[in-house]
Amino acid sequence: MDDTSILVTGGAGFLGSHLCDRLVAAGHEVLCIDNFYTGSRRNVAHLLGKSNFELSRHDVTFPLYVEVDRIFNLACPASPVHYQFDPVQTTKTSVHGAINMLGLAKRVKARLLQASTSEVYGDPEIHPQREDYWGRVNPIGTRSCYDEGKRCAETLMFDYHRQHGLEIKVVRIFNTYGPRMHPNDGRVVSNFIVQALKGEEITIYGDGQQTRSFCYVDDLIEGMLRMMDTPAEFVGPVNIGNPGEFTMLELAELVLKLTGSRSKLTFKPLPADDPKQRCPDIGLAQRTLGWAPTVSLEDGLKPTIAYFKGVLGV
Ligand code: NAD
Ligand code: UDP
Ligand code: UDP
Repeated sequence: MDDTSILVTGGAGFLGSHLCDRLVAAGHEVLCIDNFYTGSRRNVAHLLGKSNFELSRHDVTFPLYVEVDRIFNLACPASPVHYQFDPVQTTKTSVHGAINMLGLAKRVKARLLQASTSEVYGDPEIHPQREDYWGRVNPIGTRSCYDEGKRCAETLMFDYHRQHGLEIKVVRIFNTYGPRMHPNDGRVVSNFIVQALKGEEITIYGDGQQTRSFCYVDDLIEGMLRMMDTPAEFVGPVNIGNPGEFTMLELAELVLKLTGSRSKLTFKPLPADDPKQRCPDIGLAQRTLGWAPTVSLEDGLKPTIAYFKGVLGV
């Protein structure tokens, strides 16, 4: 048991709630803050009775004065549908949120881990993406509020590190899925599973040949925890994701097989700036964290489908 006190922003969200589970189980004092924009109390309801867990409603765009040893900064809507609904707030959450968490980390001398994203690579010309690739991001498109907000948050992390000697850790998370994903968040894994379970048409955007690499949530959280524990001089950024790459058509076939659904495919227009290919190079994570994903897409989809069956009551 370890009574380090840890702040998790966005802790009532999909990834944040799984992170809180692990931290609470390890005996840390966990303070979870969330404005419940896309997250929900339900995701952490099972932790509310624990003496080492506290949940508080707070928006990271406002200052926060607490005493903690470590901060995991996850607050930010992550699915295109949600982050594009109020794009100005999305940028504010990434940028003002990062400034506030950095100011807090500076005052209390806490170590800060930033949940960055593969979206900092934009629609990449390099494949698979390595951390030293600078990316190809449209600064003025509909995805920019998220991509550029996260890029600016990374800039702030590294400047506070260089200028104020802050202990920072930056992880670039690739598409992650699992139980507690929001059923209506528009992401491909949740959309396909919900559509398959309801017997609705599976919506393939574009020709379905674009690729993504899907990491199961337990693997991802393990990578984040290991990153937080690395020596101070290792700051990242480090890719965390599963290099197994699938086209959206392959994903749809797998979901149909595992759900036993007879849903038909339907083709819809490809959203603007939708990256054609995405796959992490995880060599750095393997070398520095001794980490690699262990759960195959098929094995991870099974508990995810079971979760959505419960949510939908089917
Ligand atoms: P999520 O939407 O489930 O979680 C985000 C949480 O942040 C929610 O609980 C939401 O209510 C909260 N939040 C949003 N704005 C806030 C604000 N201003 N103040 C306080 N709380 C706020 O998404 P997720 O998939 O769990 O993503 C968590 C983090 O990981 C995000 O920073 C996201 O950018 C990053 N990430 C996720 C993925 C993925 O595939 N899931 C990929 C790359 C990066
Ligand atoms: N901040 C915070 N909690 C703290 C300390 C600072 O939320 O415990 C916020 C504060 O509102 C400030 C931001 O973090 O706007 C950046 O702090 P920093 O000390 O870097 O800058 P300054 O206070 O000089 O603007
Ligand atoms: N996608 C799709 N059908 C859907 C939702 C998404 O074909 O119902 C596609 C989307 O166009 C993208 C990929 O699946 O090419 C992954 O989309 P998601 O929103 O999950 O993540 P991101 O684009 O942020 O990687």
